[in-house]
Amino acid sequence: MEFVRVVVLTPLGPAAEPAFDYHLPESLEGRVEVGSLVQVPFGPRPLYGIVVDRPPAPAVEETRPVTALVDPRPVLLPVQIELARWMASQTLSPLHECLLMMLPPGVVGLTDTRLELAGDLPPDLRLSPLERHLVDLLRRRGPLTGAQIDRAFPRSDWRAAADRLVRRKILVRTPVLAPPRARPLQVTTVRLLPDVPEEDALKGLRAPVYRAVLDFLRAEGGPVDVGWVYAQTGCTRQHLNRLYERGLVTFDLEERWRDPLEGRVFLPTEPLPLTPDQQAAWDEIRTGSSLCYLLHGVTGSGKTELYLRAVGEVLARGRKAIVLVPEISLTPQTVARFAARFPGRVTVLHSQMREGERYDVWRRARAGLVDVVIGPRSALFVPLDPLGLIIVDEEHDPSYKQASRPAFHAREAALELARRAGATVILGSATPSLESYLRAQRGEFRLLVLGRRILGHHQRISDLQAVYGVPRTRYRPLTDGLEARYLDLPPVQVVDMRAELRAGNRSIFSRALQRSVDEALARGEQVILFLNRRGTATHIFCRACGYVARCPRCDVPLTFHAGAAAGARHTPSARGPRPEGLGAAGGARHAPSARGLGAEGSPLLCHHCGHREPLPERCPRCDSPAIRPFGLGTAGLEEAVRERWPGARVLRWDRDTARTAQAHWNILQVFSDGGADVLVGTQMIAKGLDLPLVTVVGVISADTALNLPDFRAAERTFQLLEQVAGRAGRGLMGGRVILQTYHPDHYAITAVEHHDYLGFVQRELEFRREAGYPPYVRLARLVYRHTDPRRAEVAAREMGDRLRDALRRSGLPSTDLIGPVPCFFARLRGYYRWQVLLRHPDPPAFLRAVPIPRGWLVDVDPVDVL
Ligand code: ADP
Ligand code: ZN
Ligand code: ZN
Repeated sequence: MEFVRVVVLTPLGPAAEPAFDYHLPESLEGRVEVGSLVQVPFGPRPLYGIVVDRPPAPAVEETRPVTALVDPRPVLLPVQIELARWMASQTLSPLHECLLMMLPPGVVGLTDTRLELAGDLPPDLRLSPLERHLVDLLRRRGPLTGAQIDRAFPRSDWRAAADRLVRRKILVRTPVLAPPRARPLQVTTVRLLPDVPEEDALKGLRAPVYRAVLDFLRAEGGPVDVGWVYAQTGCTRQHLNRLYERGLVTFDLEERWRDPLEGRVFLPTEPLPLTPDQQAAWDEIRTGSSLCYLLHGVTGSGKTELYLRAVGEVLARGRKAIVLVPEISLTPQTVARFAARFPGRVTVLHSQMREGERYDVWRRARAGLVDVVIGPRSALFVPLDPLGLIIVDEEHDPSYKQASRPAFHAREAALELARRAGATVILGSATPSLESYLRAQRGEFRLLVLGRRILGHHQRISDLQAVYGVPRTRYRPLTDGLEARYLDLPPVQVVDMRAELRAGNRSIFSRALQRSVDEALARGEQVILFLNRRGTATHIFCRACGYVARCPRCDVPLTFHAGAAAGARHTPSARGPRPEGLGAAGGARHAPSARGLGAEGSPLLCHHCGHREPLPERCPRCDSPAIRPFGLGTAGLEEAVRERWPGARVLRWDRDTARTAQAHWNILQVFSDGGADVLVGTQMIAKGLDLPLVTVVGVISADTALNLPDFRAAERTFQLLEQVAGRAGRGLMGGRVILQTYHPDHYAITAVEHHDYLGFVQRELEFRREAGYPPYVRLARLVYRHTDPRRAEVAAREMGDRLRDALRRSGLPSTDLIGPVPCFFARLRGYYRWQVLLRHPDPPAFLRAVPIPRGWLVDVDPVDVL
């Protein structure tokens, strides 16, 4: 007899390892493999499950048979099951959730119930109106599934009624499985049947459209999509049916792949001859002597060209590649470059794809028809076999971390997958994460550096010069005979906003920025104004000297919570200090209300340790009264730009103005076509298209991320500003960056001023080592949320005690537990959030031994602690 170990894809309660042994009925012998999707009986219920092992003998004495094989081919590769196991153990998530995440939605059907009448009904039955409707429906239509009843009684609570009827033994309920939703797309085609005497067959069909259809099909020569026939001849399905009845044509069903790149034309391009920098890096990568290469190169230094090289090499060896990008809708040019270099072999995955499209990408990959997939972190789970390469572009980007369970980091998962599949990883970034940089320093990753910006090759630049009528360029060849042209990074001017105020300038635009924008607009050039959206979070800040109120214990900025002292209904403006920002334009926004942060207390709160203090009347450093909450959003900025430059055409690009991939593309297209003069936006601006007419990039407030109460605040600030700076001066006219700040001396700011990544990293690593933060220690963050503030607080305190106990028992200092405290975003979507932070050399191992109740999200190695 054959046995299989099956993980059922349904939650069975905490702590349960949901793997069970079954045997195969004769009909399935030899057809089930590791990775197969099956249906199994579980108690009285049927469940979906994945075969994860084929043990020679079962772990229990009596096994039940597998009910059915749902998909004739395995839905997961063995290496994916290994990855899921690893992920479950590292993120402390149930294995079935990790397995499910690797499948496209719709492959596994839902569990459902079937209801039917128990038998003849007694005549004197007393029923509520809804119960009566339900009984009548089942009498009329026979047994129905939950989904079918949902359709019959939309928006009614028929389930409660059904429960009562089941209890009274009037209805019988049986658990069933709904079939998988995702199906191959099929299209109907029509074709001409040969050798039919047309004149006879058409007798009586006088409309000219019949002949037109026949002529069209004859000209096409083979089966044609019916939709195409309707469009070309103006006929309808009725006409085709008539022709079918007369034996003139026949219909077929054809399977179609839904291809997200369908209909887009990519002109094939040849690989470029490499620059000496690229060549040196390439010589290293080609040896394949390291599992992981960290490619450090500024924007435009030729990283993508190297990715293309590496993919080409892998394909030539008959293997496949995954290319991860943080957000595909913002990187249309990257997709286009891959698709053009490897025509017909590339596909993409993105968050806005429909279920059917995702299903088809997955199915094509499983059938071996996809060689390269580009996408966000979920692209990691497309089954490519054999896998040769995983590229993680912009490896520092926090969006690689999944926020919900399983809270995995795509970079770490990529490394694990590559290790198991025998593939190589290339991490690329202009500003590598401190984690990766330290690992490179320690020799775990191989560090490769591309030091210079290439601004395209000779030919492209000449073309652009002609288009824009620019006679001279600042590009220069490095070596004669090479095509590539280099360009320096743009100069960065740091403007001290405290000095602006002293000079009497109360505008949010410094004089330097105003002058630069004036000049650019006068010359018909374009301007980008950047404002980090999270800047709406409010901190306390002195406009005279730049002082920011910080926690005396944690040295992170304190956060202003409007309602804490004066009661929840008071807004800050009603109570004295008005948030600064745009004044009359009304761009200021307030921090989340402080209800639920505990009954009373002072309004300034440390989100690391819970320390509170009152709002100062005057600045403790310079004694100015100009100390107050500060916050400004992009919508307010747009308003201010219109006020200051009434003649300029302004375009805003953020999550509020662009929700879909198409909307992103449209905004970029309008701007790059010269449809606007000023683009106002959030960090999205840092990515995306080349914008050759942009000569000024203004950062309205370089400090917003810096003031977040997070140990990564400086790192994020540096990464973001470098990336924004990278948008400037990529055009023929060059460009400049103006960086407005109240902290002109902060090392993150001066590092951007001098494009000094190494200097920044040294300073920041020192800080992390001294303060006991990653990458020198590991953290786990446990977040609890509840709609009731008191329940949230109580649960958090209990968890804090439990963890402190566990630390003590394992001989570790209880100071390695930080909190419990309310999260920085203390109230999100109606939930009150509390957190506990744990410092430990191996958080998953430690936490596995601690019972973690429902409602807690465990985030090992968090990318932020907000
Ligand atoms: P990154 O990915 O680091 O931003 P890219 O690979 O996009 O850099 O390169 C920047 C620009 O330089 C692109 O327009 C690219 O076509 C061009 N480029 C890259 N490598 C070369 C090369 N070896 N020769 C000529 N042009 C190059
Ligand atoms: Zn001050
Ligand atoms: Zn503190």
